[in-house]
Amino acid sequence: MITEIIFSLCIFVSLSGLFYQLWRRFQVLRSAVPVSRFDRIPQRVRAVLVWAFGQRKFIRRNPGAERSAGWMHFFIFWGFCVLGIQIITMFGRGYSDSFVVPGFSLNLLGGPYLLLRDIMEVAVLFGVGIALVRWAIIHAPRLYGFLPPESRLREQSHWEAYTILLLIATVMLTGLVYDGGRIVSDPNNMQFVREAQWAPLSALVGRGIAKVMGTSFALQASDVAWWVHNLVILVFLNLLPPSKHFHIITAIPNIFFAKLEPKGQLSKQDLENDTRFGTSHIDQFTWKQVLDMFSCTECGRCSSNCPATATKKPLAPRQLLLDLRDYLYQHQNEIIEKRSHPGKGDGTEPLEVGENIVGSVIHDDTLWACNTCRACEEACPPMIEYVDKIVDMRRHLVQEEARFPKELTRTFKNMETQSNPWGLDSGQRFEWAERMNVPTLADNPDAEFLYYVGCAGAFDDRNKKTTQAFVRVLQKAGVDFACLAREESCNGETARRLGNEYLYQTMAQTLVETFNNHKVRKIIVNCPHCFNTIKNEFPQFGGSYEVIHAADLVRELIASGRLKISEEFPKRTVYHDSCYYGRYNDVYDEPRMLLSGAGAQVQEMERHHKFGMCCGAGGGRMWLEEDPDKRVNLLRTEQALQTDPEVIAVSCPFCMTMLGDGIKAKQLEEKVQTLDVMEIVDKVTRSRDAES
Ligand code: SF4
Ligand code: SF4
Repeated sequence: MITEIIFSLCIFVSLSGLFYQLWRRFQVLRSAVPVSRFDRIPQRVRAVLVWAFGQRKFIRRNPGAERSAGWMHFFIFWGFCVLGIQIITMFGRGYSDSFVVPGFSLNLLGGPYLLLRDIMEVAVLFGVGIALVRWAIIHAPRLYGFLPPESRLREQSHWEAYTILLLIATVMLTGLVYDGGRIVSDPNNMQFVREAQWAPLSALVGRGIAKVMGTSFALQASDVAWWVHNLVILVFLNLLPPSKHFHIITAIPNIFFAKLEPKGQLSKQDLENDTRFGTSHIDQFTWKQVLDMFSCTECGRCSSNCPATATKKPLAPRQLLLDLRDYLYQHQNEIIEKRSHPGKGDGTEPLEVGENIVGSVIHDDTLWACNTCRACEEACPPMIEYVDKIVDMRRHLVQEEARFPKELTRTFKNMETQSNPWGLDSGQRFEWAERMNVPTLADNPDAEFLYYVGCAGAFDDRNKKTTQAFVRVLQKAGVDFACLAREESCNGETARRLGNEYLYQTMAQTLVETFNNHKVRKIIVNCPHCFNTIKNEFPQFGGSYEVIHAADLVRELIASGRLKISEEFPKRTVYHDSCYYGRYNDVYDEPRMLLSGAGAQVQEMERHHKFGMCCGAGGGRMWLEEDPDKRVNLLRTEQALQTDPEVIAVSCPFCMTMLGDGIKAKQLEEKVQTLDVMEIVDKVTRSRDAES
């Protein structure tokens, strides 16, 4: 009886501590800015099944993380899922020696469960062993290599990791000793005999102890193991909320509430009614953004995939998130307090919590270093969202404080006055089409497709050649298209990624009006940034169109026989995925199919498809100066050169500029060409009617 009372007190103290901590965390969530994430429940459940229970992000190929570490997490996750029944059973045995979870007696699921449990206990021990080796011996750089030397996280991560691994190992070992000692304690007990048959590993441990120390010692060891096992679980539960292992509770909800809108759609700011623009204080994040902060496992996959981190810029996404999380925890009480006393709407409302985090907790340079490439988000197992937070803080910098790198003053002005970031006379927008007999919507108002060229394709000399090549392809195939010519304007994508939402919305609305005035329905583009914005962001402004990227259209033209391949392009060609076609819009195969169809020997860099690395231009960084020693484009060029290519193929005008510059910097222009996929298609195709 005394045992039951002491055990019940332990449970009471532990659960009180746990629930108090969870309640405080939950209050922080309730105090955060609302956002709707309760729609499309079946899709959300599916995401949980695939990403949480399937552990897909852990066990798939990821150049930024070792697979062994992924499998280690797989075993620990599933080990704990399976061992949940065992944990409940051992708690129940505090009140009845024969307690089993309903349905898990030996006559029902109990036998196979014991076998599975035995295997999982050993598998988790194996996983813990791998983790210890990685932390203590290998010092895997992903785990703490991206933390600045002075970061207290280095120490904290060590301490937490070892403690938690030790506790997990203790739970597994005591589980084996508890069952083993019990099973061997009475050879005449038929229940134990049957359990021994189903739980051979526990029985082995029990027999080993009995052989060395005697049967009565094995039984005593079982009793001690029972206490240790349950007390460790009770302590472990209370270590979760303040540590990185809080993700054990929050990661599945975080995956459930992940963004389902198109990946490339940033939130629309309400310019008329919002009283502040962007995020500057810790209490201005949405509850989902706060849940992100709770859910980081500190695995470092984000930073090991980040081009800014790789080029030693002052941005490592994990550090950014953990800095926000630490600041949030420091101000947790004030956040909750503010919610309890929201004010009466008479102007005496409490001020924001804490100091302005932009510039202090998160430095300006950290925010400007981001390419918005989504490599971090793609790699992150609990599906933490980064780009929206970074752009929200950029919005504050640009719109509230007018504080941004000086070179952007010119870029924004150019976009405002000439509707292109170069600042070239907008009257030159259609000069690329001279002597090409390109129809305009004025000539052909009922054209099936509008070809939206975009600023880079219209103004940049190198990219004008791509535009001309693509138009020749359209003309050869007899596509019924037209251009807006000088009526075309910039869609503002660069301004939005740079945080100038006001400028973006002005430009987007202007272009949507132009499209709608011409009753445009189908739009072809050959720029992933234009593609993403028109397809995924223009619906926020009443512009919903069928947007088709060039490679998709050309693939169809070839398949339908409207375009014939008449020549071979037998060159070693490496394809560079642009982030805004690839990771943002899942366009991976079509450009590769066109290259293979042209006869190219297509090669892959180590980082390709979902894990492709940014060229360095995304997120408006095309317009920012870069330290010559920290150029992303040079690193990406080097990665491409490792495949010994004759041609680097791209599908993006910005990638063309960045990789073309990389090749120039390496003085390899004579040996390696940088070509758009459409230029290659133009070289190898003829019209259906032309003679071969
Ligand atoms: S979006 Fe790209 S550049 Fe920005 S933090 Fe993530 S990985 Fe780094
Ligand atoms: S944000 Fe995601 S990928 Fe980065 S350390 Fe945290 S859990 Fe790992």
